[in-house]
Amino acid sequence: MRLILLGTKGGPRVSPTHCGPGQLIVAGDGVILVDCGHGIPQQLLRAGIAPSALTDIVITHHHSDHNVALGTVLMAAWAHGLERPLTVHGPAPLGRIVAAHLEANAYDIGIRVLDEGRPDLRDLIRVAEIDGGDERMLGDVVMRAVRVRHAPVEPALGYRFDAPSGSVVISGDTGPSPELIDLARGADTLVHEVINPELVRPYGEDESNARWEDLHRHLVESHTAVSDVGAVAQAAGVRRLVLSHLVPGNTFDSVDWRTVVERDFDGEVVRGEDLMELSIRQNAPKEMQS
Ligand SMILES: [Zn+2]
Ligand SMILES: [Zn+2]
Repeated sequence: MRLILLGTKGGPRVSPTHCGPGQLIVAGDGVILVDCGHGIPQQLLRAGIAPSALTDIVITHHHSDHNVALGTVLMAAWAHGLERPLTVHGPAPLGRIVAAHLEANAYDIGIRVLDEGRPDLRDLIRVAEIDGGDERMLGDVVMRAVRVRHAPVEPALGYRFDAPSGSVVISGDTGPSPELIDLARGADTLVHEVINPELVRPYGEDESNARWEDLHRHLVESHTAVSDVGAVAQAAGVRRLVLSHLVPGNTFDSVDWRTVVERDFDGEVVRGEDLMELSIRQNAPKEMQS
């Protein structure tokens, strides 16, 4: 099993240097994309993955930093030769969102079907809404979803992917979540969102349309601080913790974040970077998965 971090920047603003959330899991015949943030279609190509090779797309929740490029990924998969069904999994209202993306591109799809002889993209896209507590097979990968704590977004989901070659958990956006700890128990690698409250500052007045007190409250209450994420990974007993969805976007180098994470977690800690590839080991033996 391979894990590629396509984008590691959290939040809806775009960055000149980093892409929005997106993780690619390659296991057996499965090529699974988790979340579609800004820049993900191009990141697939930079990672050496043809968009048409995707077998499944999985969305954690419907904040735009996680789904804004979904329509573009679908169009890219089609433009690059998609011929077989591609399933999009995620919480409601996923069906409405996918339909809206396809409708927005209906003129292009229709004209290329006639003019270029392509199959109709609308016949190739399947939608599977997930409520949390679900388990399903994506090829030979077992995917499990739980509801995590990302108020006021309901549901927001975290996912675990188990293949014979290893296990990965993607937290999605969440505060410290017992449900996620249970889901991640004994997994090889936990990709967890993280915020560094020390570094979060109000934007300049001329570039913000949010009320700072409200935005700050959301960031602190519905995300996981660097000072808390190590304890989450330790409780789950994972071998490796990968920090991603960095807020504020990939600016952690100016402070010492590592000491507080490693204070609570005695496994490997990796700070995610766009296009970082990680190989995933086989699951720990059952007796270690208490
Ligand atoms: Zn987010
Ligand atoms: Zn979110």
